[in-house]
Amino acid sequence: MRIESRLAQIGSIKEPVTGAVSFPIYQATAFRHPKLGESTGFDYARTKSPTRAVLEEAAAELESGDAAFACSTGMAAVQTILTLFSQGDHLIVSLDLYGGTYRLLEQVMSRFGVSASYVDTNDMDALAAACRDNTKALLIETPTNPLMMITDLAKVCGWAKERGLLTIVDNTLLTPYFQRPLELGADIIIHSATKYLGGHNDVLAGLIVTKGKELSEQIAFLHNSIGAVLGPQDSWLLMRGMKTLALRMERHQHNATVLANYLQEHPAIDEVFYPALPSHPHHHIQNAQSSGNTGIFSFKVKDARYVEPVLRHIRLIAFAESLGGVESLMTYPAVQTHADIPLEIRQQVGVDDRLLRFSVGIEHVDDLIADLEQALEAARLEIEGA
Ligand SMILES: *Cc1c(COP(=O)(O)O)cnc(C)c1O
Repeated sequence: MRIESRLAQIGSIKEPVTGAVSFPIYQATAFRHPKLGESTGFDYARTKSPTRAVLEEAAAELESGDAAFACSTGMAAVQTILTLFSQGDHLIVSLDLYGGTYRLLEQVMSRFGVSASYVDTNDMDALAAACRDNTKALLIETPTNPLMMITDLAKVCGWAKERGLLTIVDNTLLTPYFQRPLELGADIIIHSATKYLGGHNDVLAGLIVTKGKELSEQIAFLHNSIGAVLGPQDSWLLMRGMKTLALRMERHQHNATVLANYLQEHPAIDEVFYPALPSHPHHHIQNAQSSGNTGIFSFKVKDARYVEPVLRHIRLIAFAESLGGVESLMTYPAVQTHADIPLEIRQQVGVDDRLLRFSVGIEHVDDLIADLEQALEAARLEIEGA
């Protein structure tokens, strides 16, 4: 069955008693045992819970994995994965990383003796140079955020496999609708399901999807041991959001492509970072390994003085820090999402004071253009009047 149909039907044939088309919220933490030594399959909800189980089964199947684990947030999913590693282990991680993952590695995991090197994961020489005897895994974001750099997943997963390294891919920005890294050789997928999968800026959630029996059992153990699991109501909200993922992603992609082209031609804009644009340096890799493009992109204004008034004058587009929801949001990475990344790393990748990130929603694209146009014009008048 095609992915659109599988998404729309999540949970709809799983409720055997009433036939409810929307899978119910099982708000229970404990489950009665039929008799000594017997279980219904559910014992205690941290380990396994019915609503969460339906979500997890759907997530595993959508990502072509063997098992999935729903977590309380995206960061809980990242943390659960990072506890696969022990004191003395080293990771190679994408440069231009999500700020929260960077903070977790540098300010938390470092205290437990797990270290990381940040490299452009598309640069084979840089990867080889970063690889040490104690390197255990590669953690990749593709596209990266905010600069939208793409990693050639098949090539890099192959490289990692030859060296016995695990490949972990954060697939938040593309979702399994557009990209399935496990099919390209990755071992583990993580998601901030708070973003496109949930899609409505109303639920925090994370997902882990694994390939292979041993790895799946290891993560099941860690997921239950750590306990940062997703509750039944949030599991239901996430499934409800995922049912419309295909429609939303198509619209996000359409709107983002129109807006990226519009901004690229705008006199106040210097550069637009979006892999759907043929001018993007990794455009061909993105097209080869994914069936579409995300709904977020970044752009640099010509003059940093535009930033403050643009963020003040946008009306339909909200000045807010998240991405992947139906509502358009704009953020200023240097002082918000990426503030925890040291200045020299930010400068190395290009997250500077002229960069804005735009999570394009599903509003009508003409209304979004009109809002940007009036905000840029108001900003220009203020700057020139000053
Ligand atoms: C938001 C985000 C996270 C963290 O997820 P939360 O749900 O906010 O905890 C991790 N990775 C990426 C790429 C993200 O965008």
